[in-house]
Amino acid sequence: MAQLSNQLLEQIVEDSLPYASDGEVRPVIPMYDDTKKDVLGVTVWTGEEYFHAGRTDLYVPMQSTAKIVTLMLALNDFGKKRVFDMVGMEPMGDFFNSIGQLERHQTEKPFNPMINAGAIATAALIKGGSVEERFERFMTFIRQITGNPDLVMSEEIYEAEKSNGARNRALAYFMQSTGAMIMAPEEALDLYFRTNAVMMCTEDFARVGHFMANEGRDPETNIRLISPEHLRTVKSIMLTSGMYNSSGQFAVEAGFPLKSGVSGAIIGAVPGRMGIGIIGPAIDAKGNSTAGGALVKSLSNELDLNMFGVI
Ligand code: GLN
Repeated sequence: MAQLSNQLLEQIVEDSLPYASDGEVRPVIPMYDDTKKDVLGVTVWTGEEYFHAGRTDLYVPMQSTAKIVTLMLALNDFGKKRVFDMVGMEPMGDFFNSIGQLERHQTEKPFNPMINAGAIATAALIKGGSVEERFERFMTFIRQITGNPDLVMSEEIYEAEKSNGARNRALAYFMQSTGAMIMAPEEALDLYFRTNAVMMCTEDFARVGHFMANEGRDPETNIRLISPEHLRTVKSIMLTSGMYNSSGQFAVEAGFPLKSGVSGAIIGAVPGRMGIGIIGPAIDAKGNSTAGGALVKSLSNELDLNMFGVI
């Protein structure tokens, strides 16, 4: 087993970067153009020490990595029974924004909270008197779990999400028709779009991962911000669905909970060991960073991170 060091991470970044050419940057993200394609950065946070390599200075929108934060908050607010009355916990073999899955399987609720339909339904379960208040609670929670009071939403990304939101609107309105939404679709969508637009760097993503890997404690006060049961639930669903329809492959090749977003961000939570934050904007057709995915797999091999056994 290799020793975790900046040097090891630098080597893995160098070896993984060529995989960026297998992906494309998502054109609807305003600050992403082709110059962002060959970029890769990683931070590992063990709770005692940070390790960094590559471009760790970039800020990108959380996009779908926000889905795990939404789920944690919904579980805190409503409990497991109520949340999973509204959304399933089964993996789905389709793309993350698939509409067909909502009807084809004769189920009135989305498969799981890691796909768009599931996250929109889960966003509706964040308590608050208005969208603003609900989002403020999301921001308070994410600032707390990362220990970073400076996190903010990008208005530019939020506007882009809204104006490119036809597909997500279709999902929300379809769910309204089946009774899967407890909130007006436009309000749930507004909240969902905002959560997607919160800006983070690799260190912030690593801190979310570390929070989840280590009992969900506030990094400042050490107080638990989520129960062990809820945290275990979220990590289990990350393992089975966090990388969309590549989750099976990542469970085999990396072997710990991960969540990706179309900004090319990946959050990794290695139970009891470390949080990993990655940014590699070129993504594959399924929505996962190509270079970031390669990085996660080598890191797992080098450091024996697979929860299911080392070889
Ligand atoms: N904003 C994107 C969307 O709603 C997020 C999806 C993702 O990161 N996979 O489609």
